Amino acid sequence: MSRRRQIYEGKAKILYEGPEPGTIIQYFKDDATAFNAQKRGTINGKGVINNRISEYVFTQLQHIGIPTHFVRRLNMREQLVRQVEIVPIEVIVRNVAAGSICKRLGLTEGDPLPTTLIEYCYKDDDLGDPLIAEEHIACFNWASADEMQDISSMAIRINDFMCGMFAAIGIRLIDFKLEFGRLFEGDFSRIILADEISPDGCRLWDMESNEKLDKDRFRRDLGGEVEAYQEVARRLGLLPEDVNNNDVVDLDSQRKKRGK
Ligand code: UDP
Repeated sequence: MSRRRQIYEGKAKILYEGPEPGTIIQYFKDDATAFNAQKRGTINGKGVINNRISEYVFTQLQHIGIPTHFVRRLNMREQLVRQVEIVPIEVIVRNVAAGSICKRLGLTEGDPLPTTLIEYCYKDDDLGDPLIAEEHIACFNWASADEMQDISSMAIRINDFMCGMFAAIGIRLIDFKLEFGRLFEGDFSRIILADEISPDGCRLWDMESNEKLDKDRFRRDLGGEVEAYQEVARRLGLLPEDVNNNDVVDLDSQRKKRGK
């Protein structure tokens, strides 16, 4: 791994040059950050679980015709993806009030929104990813009108699909974040889904108990973050019923010892 060229290190992932031009390897770390990286920590085995969950969700989305950067999972912490130019916008899809929108608009956490709401934030850590309007996106040319049409219609389809997928396993999809990229093909580019979809970037509540099964456990010091991420993976059928996190971490360390 050390011989590979590192392209970028983010808060939860490292990107390496891929085996062929136009490909990238996404490595999922256990590092967790919250509140614009003011809070930092580690969730043991998170990278392994997020790699699996994201592989599963991206594969399902491809089946319903959403173009994505995902090619294949390589091992427990890595996946091969297509290289894209990331659109510098975080697309937030909300079904139920939670997190920043509650503070901003005085809403009560857990109240369903009258309709699904899409918000956009400008991807800039130094500025704390500020909320922006579509007018800002057009004004500063962060994405074209056609690209925004593709992004918003894909976000709605992804939300519809994921609401059903999670409802089937007793989980309410409260909100989530998406990132899109431009895939260049000759002189043209098209928008495809990029980054990851995992409990790091979604709010997932158990339908019966409203228990949080996502990164809010870390953000709010609720404890049990590893178990929560595992529970999501287990309900999606990605972990055997009797696997606990020590097994996940252990499998990963065994793989490292074998040098794979
Ligand atoms: N989110 C994310 N990365 C960010 C900001 C938000 O993955 O940089 C996700 C977050 O996990 C939640 C949704 O987007 O599922 C909405 O987040 P919100 O705006 O409420 O911000 P937060 O309360 O997480 O700061």
